[in-house]
Amino acid sequence: MSQNLPPDVALKVDDLSIVYRTDRGEVKATANVSFALRSGEAMALIGESGSGKTTISLALIRKLPKNALITSGQILYQRNQEVQDVLKLNSRQLREFRWNECAMVFQGAQNAFNPVLKIRKQFEDTAQSHGWRDKAAVRERALSLLQLVRLDPERVYDAYPHELSGGMKQRALLALGVLLSPQVVILDEPTTALDILTQRAIIDVLNDMRRQLDFSIIFISHDLSLAAEMADHVATVYAGEIVELGGVNDVFYQSLHPYTQGLLTSVPTLEHTQDLLQSIPGSPPNLITPPVGCKFHPRCAFADDVCMEDSPPLAVDVGGHLAACWHKDRLIESRKARV
Ligand code: ATP
Ligand code: MG
Repeated sequence: MSQNLPPDVALKVDDLSIVYRTDRGEVKATANVSFALRSGEAMALIGESGSGKTTISLALIRKLPKNALITSGQILYQRNQEVQDVLKLNSRQLREFRWNECAMVFQGAQNAFNPVLKIRKQFEDTAQSHGWRDKAAVRERALSLLQLVRLDPERVYDAYPHELSGGMKQRALLALGVLLSPQVVILDEPTTALDILTQRAIIDVLNDMRRQLDFSIIFISHDLSLAAEMADHVATVYAGEIVELGGVNDVFYQSLHPYTQGLLTSVPTLEHTQDLLQSIPGSPPNLITPPVGCKFHPRCAFADDVCMEDSPPLAVDVGGHLAACWHKDRLIESRKARV
């Protein structure tokens, strides 16, 4: 394919739009989403429930439900300077792509293991379905990955899923996810439903794995402090659009979008207790008939006539920090005034 990407880009999403067809109309779940993921970096997708994070990540591996329709865009994937358009892969290429190149650990994935098969069998089956039949070699690789996720390798390899706790299953799934050395690993809420110490352990494990195995991560979490620890870059998703994109420190400490700012001030910290927090007023829009102009305007303290009429572009700002807002300057001023 004649597409060219900078050599350090693993994945580039361009103008991706997705609708879900429902009885009530078309849900515009993803609108004109563009971003690039560099080799070895971690990108966090943050945003409220229903903002479209899972939809974006399912599209990357073409696992969208049947009622979804991709209405625009391309998803380019690069390894060893070879570029593929994920949306054009045939079913055989797609199967290869899903484990060898881009693996996903799903939201609520603790039930992803087949309950009647030992963990060992699930590693072997995954390897075998990708043409890897040497069971001894699979075992060796699986044990080293289980060790890497800090499980007792021999015991877990020979266990049934129900013999493992939720956190252990989650870690075993991470090991399975990277069995075939993918270049990109998508983690959709990998720590939800786990206690805080187990969450911590999984984040440490992921950071270790990323250092040792050298893959890129797309990380979805409602826990912004975990996202901040994992991510190099952060994309804020609102009503199916990326409204802010930038380095983790820029987005978290110098946010340029009122929605990101609202998300951040909704997080309780030790110094600021819950009642001091300003949460974002209102609720996310109906994606069948989203607001005209900036989709965030009905909830935004800075909104004026322009915001009600025109949708702000994701305009380039200093140092590659982007935000789709007409009133970044006012946001920055208001932050200065509060300090
Ligand atoms: P959460 O944080 O709760 O996981 P999310 O950001 O991952 O949310 P998505 O699951 O991507 O959000 O959903 C985006 C929008 O698409 C929501 O409005 C949701 O109701 C809608 N949606 C998701 N799946 C379907 C589907 N299969 N059919 C119709 N609408 C859907
Ligand atoms: Mg989701």
